[in-house]
Amino acid sequence: MVHGGAWDIPDDMVKQHKKGVQDAITAGWTMLSRGGTSVDAVTETIRILENDDTFDAGRGSFVNMVGDIELDASIMDGGTLTAGAVAAVQNIKNPILLARAIMEKSEHVMLTGIGATRFAREHGVKTCGHDDLITDRELARWREYQSRKKVSAKEIFRKKKMPSDTVGAIAMDKFGNVASGTSAGGTPNKHPGRVGDSPIIGCGTYADNEGGAVATTGWGEALMKVVMAKTVYDLMEKHGDPDKAIQEALSILEKKTGGYGGVVALTSEGKIGFGYNTPRMARGYMTSEMKNPIVDV
Ligand code: ASP
Repeated sequence: MVHGGAWDIPDDMVKQHKKGVQDAITAGWTMLSRGGTSVDAVTETIRILENDDTFDAGRGSFVNMVGDIELDASIMDGGTLTAGAVAAVQNIKNPILLARAIMEKSEHVMLTGIGATRFAREHGVKTCGHDDLITDRELARWREYQSRKKVSAKEIFRKKKMPSDTVGAIAMDKFGNVASGTSAGGTPNKHPGRVGDSPIIGCGTYADNEGGAVATTGWGEALMKVVMAKTVYDLMEKHGDPDKAIQEALSILEKKTGGYGGVVALTSEGKIGFGYNTPRMARGYMTSEMKNPIVDV
């Protein structure tokens, strides 16, 4: 199951969001059907979404206040509770690959900034130039932000207008192992060094074979305050119903923080659910009973 952000996605961007989600699910599903693990499927799905300019992850990400791109990502293996994350990394083409390398090749969970880039070089994760990540669309958005009177992200999010194109994926493999991952460029015009919910285990991502897997998107500053992914996970264990758990977590988010966002979730029994309190969320899923993925925005 995949999400490609929850916000007021304009009509003229719906088609490309659907296509991006569809391509990513197809890649992840191919991985699973060839006997790949849920971690493989989540990694591949997110790698494809990061390479797609449509989304705020990898290439196409939002530019920060000083014109740089800083990326966040995380991945969690529900079979072992191992996790890897990167926060505010520059010059990394696919932060999800670096998060996975940290999960598998270090004793740490999260690396940030320059230390994360060093780890990438040490472990053969591809680095790239600034221009490989930045698109004309985001450069134009950044210029527009520079000329504008400062409006806080909170205000824009409250109007449900803040573009929120983070990507996330959850999966269960034939062994019953679940995994979750998230990748984001954060919010437009963010302060350098700002870290969102996406790389924080329990906020943007959570997976445990006992209860299932969760990935979130939306206004990170709000999602972190209610530990969104773990809140959904706990409610899912309580209700056994992902849709109900997501709805309850979204009302906690809205009531306590005024926050907006979207969630995809999967129980250890293989029940899937999604929900959002924004006008739209790009999402899709595929199960072994289906011939083709279902994708919607
Ligand atoms: N949650 C992300 C962040 O705040 C933004 C998004 O979901 O698009 O960094």
